Amino acid sequence: MTGDPTPPIDTAGLAGDIARRLGVRVEQHAPLARSTTMRVGGPADLLATVRNAFELRGLVRFARSRGLPIFVLGRGSNVVISDLGVRGLVIQVKAEQTRIDGVRYHAAAGVPMARAATETQKAGLTGLEFGLAIPGTVGGAIWGNAGAHGADVAGVLESADLLSPDGVESTVDAAELGFGYRESRLKHPAASGGRELVVGGTFRLEPAPPDAIRAALDEIRHWRQAHQPLGLPSAGSVFRNPAEGAAAGQRIEHAGLKGFSIGGASVSEKHANFIIADRTATAADVRALADHVRATILASDGIDLQFEIEFVGDWTGWPWPAPERGGSTPA
Ligand SMILES: Cc1cc2nc3c(=O)[nH]c(=O)nc-3n(C[C@H](O)[C@H](O)[C@H](O)COP(=O)(O)OP(=O)(O)OC[C@H]3O[C@@H](n4cnc5c(N)ncnc54)[C@H](O)[C@@H]3O)c2cc1C
Repeated sequence: MTGDPTPPIDTAGLAGDIARRLGVRVEQHAPLARSTTMRVGGPADLLATVRNAFELRGLVRFARSRGLPIFVLGRGSNVVISDLGVRGLVIQVKAEQTRIDGVRYHAAAGVPMARAATETQKAGLTGLEFGLAIPGTVGGAIWGNAGAHGADVAGVLESADLLSPDGVESTVDAAELGFGYRESRLKHPAASGGRELVVGGTFRLEPAPPDAIRAALDEIRHWRQAHQPLGLPSAGSVFRNPAEGAAAGQRIEHAGLKGFSIGGASVSEKHANFIIADRTATAADVRALADHVRATILASDGIDLQFEIEFVGDWTGWPWPAPERGGSTPA
């Protein structure tokens, strides 16, 4: 979570410098809600979209040389951007190069996980089917060791190409990435000496008949349609499942919170661990609701649920006063 108020920056000057030096177009005061699946939140001071590792490296080095804070966004499917927006430079990674080499699948950080799943299916390689359930990128999936249907990134990733905070690239063995349940060393920049970015990943898969893999993909597709509020703005599971006992969603449902809403944010009727946002929702509504759910489960179950979603941008002074926002349960 980022929260430090940063002094105003010369957005026009910086955008011009980036365009001149790197040829990357940068938007000033760019709305970010449209770049996330939750569809809430304010603007980025600067937003750049990169299409390859060269541009990403160039921007990271530029930002470092100017002391400009950066935040990297994939598909924005695991984040809630503050209504106050994000200070500094947001880099959206849309590098989508892929290559198949025997049983290895190389994918740039911006490749959608769903595409990784279907592309490897067609090539007769099994292991990435769970990617169909994840509406994010390879970079975001490696960052959080995304997983579904009994599989995760850690189980198939061989190595990742990382960019250090000073813009130096290296290939790191998956065993060195500190993977655990929705965990990696990338989530803990202080411990690994600064925020590292994912440039790409190499997955080691196994040969299998494409038809059998397609059947597994169909099953995942049907399961998701039946159990998740697809098509409605959300950021996936709000909370991690506790190490023991009932899953977060079961606890939230049991506490009677399905359908409970604050402002334009409500607990999904279909999956209690999802918060969905309507057109009027603000990021503050989403966060206030998530805090309310967390406090309720702490009181009812004695379990302090941990967030799986990430609150990004300027949340200085949270919780903000919002007396008009009270919560309500559907009739
Ligand atoms: C409907 C729905 C269903 C979902 N189901 C699942 C599920 O079954 N399992 C699951 O694990 N998740 C699930 N998610 C959550 C989400 O899709 C995953 O966490 C996904 O991996 C996030 O990828 P992203 O590209 O959207 O990352 P973003 O949301 O853009 O970013 C998330 C974090 O990753 C970091 N990041 C992104 N790209 C990079 C990069 N190149 N280098 C370094 N850091 C980077 C960002 O800085 C940020 O901190 C679901 C989400 C939705 C909306």
